[in-house]
Amino acid sequence: MIRLGGECASRGIAIGPAHLLEVRVVIAEQRILRSDREAECARLEGAVVAADGQLDRLNLQLDGEHSGEGHDLIEAHRLMLRSPELAGEARRLIADECLAAEWAVSRALAHIRSIFSRLDDAYFRERSGDFEVVGERLLRVLMGLPERRPGAAAPRGGIAVGIDISPLDPFHLHRAEIAGMVSESGGPTSHAAIVARAFGMPYVVGVEGLSSKVRPGATLIVDGTHGEVIVDPDEDVLRAYRLRVDDLRQRTQRLESTRSLPAMTSDGVRIHLAANVETVAGISTALSAGAESIGLFRTEFLYLEREDFPSEQEQYEDAVSALHDAGGIPVTFRTLDLGGDKLPLAMKIPTGPNPALGIRSVRFLLRRPEVLRRQLRALYRAASVGPLRFMFPLVSGVGELKQLRTVCDDVRAELANDRIAHDPATALGVMIETPSAVLTADHLARRCDFLSVGTNDLMQYTFAADRENDAVAHLYQPLHPAVLRTLKSLAGSAQTADVPISICGDMAGDPFLTWILIGLGFRDLSMDPDRIPLVKAVVRGSSLSEAEALTAEALKLETEIEVSDLLESRLGLRFASEMEGFRPRTATSVRQNPIGTALRAGGGRDGLRNAGTRPAV
Ligand code: PEP
Ligand code: MG
Repeated sequence: MIRLGGECASRGIAIGPAHLLEVRVVIAEQRILRSDREAECARLEGAVVAADGQLDRLNLQLDGEHSGEGHDLIEAHRLMLRSPELAGEARRLIADECLAAEWAVSRALAHIRSIFSRLDDAYFRERSGDFEVVGERLLRVLMGLPERRPGAAAPRGGIAVGIDISPLDPFHLHRAEIAGMVSESGGPTSHAAIVARAFGMPYVVGVEGLSSKVRPGATLIVDGTHGEVIVDPDEDVLRAYRLRVDDLRQRTQRLESTRSLPAMTSDGVRIHLAANVETVAGISTALSAGAESIGLFRTEFLYLEREDFPSEQEQYEDAVSALHDAGGIPVTFRTLDLGGDKLPLAMKIPTGPNPALGIRSVRFLLRRPEVLRRQLRALYRAASVGPLRFMFPLVSGVGELKQLRTVCDDVRAELANDRIAHDPATALGVMIETPSAVLTADHLARRCDFLSVGTNDLMQYTFAADRENDAVAHLYQPLHPAVLRTLKSLAGSAQTADVPISICGDMAGDPFLTWILIGLGFRDLSMDPDRIPLVKAVVRGSSLSEAEALTAEALKLETEIEVSDLLESRLGLRFASEMEGFRPRTATSVRQNPIGTALRAGGGRDGLRNAGTRPAV
């Protein structure tokens, strides 16, 4: 039995056999000289023959196993390999556009993917996965890489283990009914983690040496609540964890019974609890968790798996179905936040050498105004159907906001001119995610209808610590005085401008931080749906006056450790159950081992507060 420490990315416990994810090949754009086209086509043909040979060998191996279905599948893969859509299209791209064979195959695959994604029939839509597998086989041959393990389908109830997990992987793994995930890299605010939470899939990130310690099929326990992975647990540990799973299930049911109760403090202050979602399907989960509105709809997730940008009509229909499923509660759509770690397949976004600091979010949209206009038209139109507002992410200041507003004005004028139903008064918000936006929040507030603080990015840029890089995770501290002062100043700017403000970054859903956030003046918090019952329990069990008093004390402290100790001393026992997995390690143990190992061993990019003592199992 081996215990490995990591960071909590999605709470809960999963137990199952390890399913090792293979690293996908990454293809860079590459072109050839016109004179080399014939040779490149021949190289492609050679790879097709070799890949076909691999399939043939697989077929023979299957003979011994009498697997009729397997034969059918392999025959289908052989047809796909030589199909006009894959090999044919790649050949055409080499001949017509002088693409290198690998890039041509990758482009052909992206095209197939986008066609399949639009099919109505789920069965046929899923067949694009077969093309992916065949395409990957062909690419590996072209690149001289060894053949992938055949039959690598994820086992139902298994635990996906990877070096890194892309934001799209959880969608596929969820579909394959994988129970949990573990990765060597990544962080709790990475988009893969956000999606895992949306699916309620336990996920531990930043587990060093993971791949060398886990063999395929080994029994794994993923404790997403405490940031721990146990490889080959012994019988006692397994039994104890199974009991914990039952216990967690009961506790979740108990918390969910507060669904229809208001989040009101004992001294009568109402806190609005909203949900963050990435898919239309996520809305029903949000409603069952008791969300009062959708405070953040990350629209880009609807379109990450495609080659082209969505049409206005598609976006309109998606927004209308979201509004429909929301059943009358307001939905805040965020405009496409592409770039950074969210790069749509085969879509070329010139992010630059440091994607997090390059062309992403509105910077990208302002470079591609037709993409922005299409989404704005869709949103203004959908706003005539139900309560909708939208916001722009990563705005850096008023100059950028003015440019964005100009596009909004044009779009509204166009819709009015064409007599297309829309709501010209749709509320427009700004996400505060950069230090420059914080320092100009008073100006921004006067020029928009609401503000929403994206603390995930805001902390990344405040600490100059990449949210995807676990090597700098110890710097990413929500209780750092810089964060507290930033939030205090934002609450003040919004109040002075009399503009509503919410928090939609992960801080909002952390029950250990609830007192601080309400104490700083925030009354509107938007979070992953599964956090709503926890935060509600803390709100209902507290008075605003005690939260304000504690916050006043916290604001005088110099380090996040002191703030964390203060919170622990006041809240640790009182909300022991709500804060399980969020509570800090004792101050002494943190001080003895201040950075890195102590935090990581206990499980926390979220730092001290997540570095909880191991459970007694
Ligand atoms: C944030 O940055 O806090 C946020 C809510 O947006 P995302 O996590 O999608 O970047
Ligand atoms: Mg963000």
